[in-house]
Amino acid sequence: MNDLLVMKFGGTSMGSAERIRSAAALCEEAWRQRPVVVVVSAMAKVTDMLLEALRHAEGGDEAGLERLLRQLDEKHRRCCNELLEGAARDRTQRVLDGILEEFARIARGVLMLGERPPRSVDEAVAAGERLSAAMMAAYLETRGVDAFAVNGWDVIVTDAVFGNASPLLEQTREKAGAMLRPALEKRRLPVVTGFNGATLDGRPTTLGRGGSDFSASILASVLDAAELWIWSDVDGIMSADPRLVPDAKVLSEITYREAAELAYNGAKVLHPRTLAPLMEKGIPVWSRNSFNPSFPGTRIVPETKDGPIGPRAVTSMTNVALVSLDPASAVLSGTRIMARSLEALAAANAEVLALTSSSYRQNFCFLIRQSELPAVIEKLEETFSLELAHGYLHPIDVDLDVGLIAIVGEGMRGQAGLAGRIFTAISREMVNIIAIAQGSSELTIAIVVRKDGVEKAVRAVHAECALGR
Ligand code: ADP
Ligand code: ASP
Ligand code: MG
Repeated sequence: MNDLLVMKFGGTSMGSAERIRSAAALCEEAWRQRPVVVVVSAMAKVTDMLLEALRHAEGGDEAGLERLLRQLDEKHRRCCNELLEGAARDRTQRVLDGILEEFARIARGVLMLGERPPRSVDEAVAAGERLSAAMMAAYLETRGVDAFAVNGWDVIVTDAVFGNASPLLEQTREKAGAMLRPALEKRRLPVVTGFNGATLDGRPTTLGRGGSDFSASILASVLDAAELWIWSDVDGIMSADPRLVPDAKVLSEITYREAAELAYNGAKVLHPRTLAPLMEKGIPVWSRNSFNPSFPGTRIVPETKDGPIGPRAVTSMTNVALVSLDPASAVLSGTRIMARSLEALAAANAEVLALTSSSYRQNFCFLIRQSELPAVIEKLEETFSLELAHGYLHPIDVDLDVGLIAIVGEGMRGQAGLAGRIFTAISREMVNIIAIAQGSSELTIAIVVRKDGVEKAVRAVHAECALGR
């Protein structure tokens, strides 16, 4: 099975009956030549709708919940009707009804409790991928492909961090191998739901928003795949988000480390954790466009042919928060405060996107995702309750009006004057730089600016480094 190909289709690639047909054609073409495992996302917007339904339920808004349930039903019913006919359609519609009924049952439970426990949310939102996998598998069958739908929670074993679980790779290798290898040997085509897994004792989890990329890379790793192809709606990994920078160009090749830095710093085209499971084995990843399948896309590999050539891409993030801690008394050791803060961040399960400190004033600030802010503040206030109560520490300051820009490329460190040119290009746009985190990673320069300056700064840096077409 050393020719195994894992292919993942994102939400837009599964977004309608027509898109599912195109995706299925790509699956079939590959499957006729080699063993294939397919991983699918929910149809575009469906995960958002499911989460919104649960929020309505939690807030006691029964009408809002029922409206979303109807919309979800209509969307999938229409897709199923357009995709399939006759007995296959009726059979698949019954499967869809069953999945939506399970979702509705959990959502009504949330409505009754007025509470949305993370583990129920994870079980509930898995519905999105289960619905799309059922339709994809059924459609492939009508094309003569021996496809079958698989629930991610039957193959991917994770820890119990609901909403942002991490895979247990050894256990996943066993479970996925036992479930998928015999099928692959019989030339069957598994269509696995992305985004979800389950703990060792079988409780459903999810891998974080956008996590289907991660599901696919986990499976590619544990099944020792030859390649992973990630099908999205752009021609590959580009020098910037084409929505922000019209002349962004597709990169034909980038390294794992570059791709990972881009993803961690906001390039939505890849889930940040996608590359980790593949690095050790050097499994190549292609980022490709299901709307333009004749284009080769971007190849992500351990080393590129051109070697490290400096800045390759610029990316940004605006859903972030800058949290500052400032000792009011010189009696406090800034280093100790920093150490305890990092422990608090770890306890909150948050990721530090950038960190800067001042040695003189002993104050420091770090950038985190806004979604992680409530948990972080809770843990920080708990950790420093005494210092805050006695005024040894100024009140924790949170700045939401910020964004992060990151310039990424191997070999940047060696380029004299580059940082200066980048800062000058940003200032020329009258955008103030709030914090700089260079050097933590030798292939990234991260800069925090005011939120309304992010887009201007991205374009300025892209032009200054001549990254475009
Ligand atoms: P999918 O649903 O297939 O997982 P996503 O919406 O998650 O797709 O990711 C694709 C989107 O990522 C693109 O439409 C593009 O706007 C955005 N994007 C952000 N940065 C980049 C980049 N550097 N290169 C390519 N796309 C990017
Ligand atoms: N459907 C999930 C999400 O929207 C996972 C994914 O699309 O990758 O976050
Ligand atoms: Mg995605």
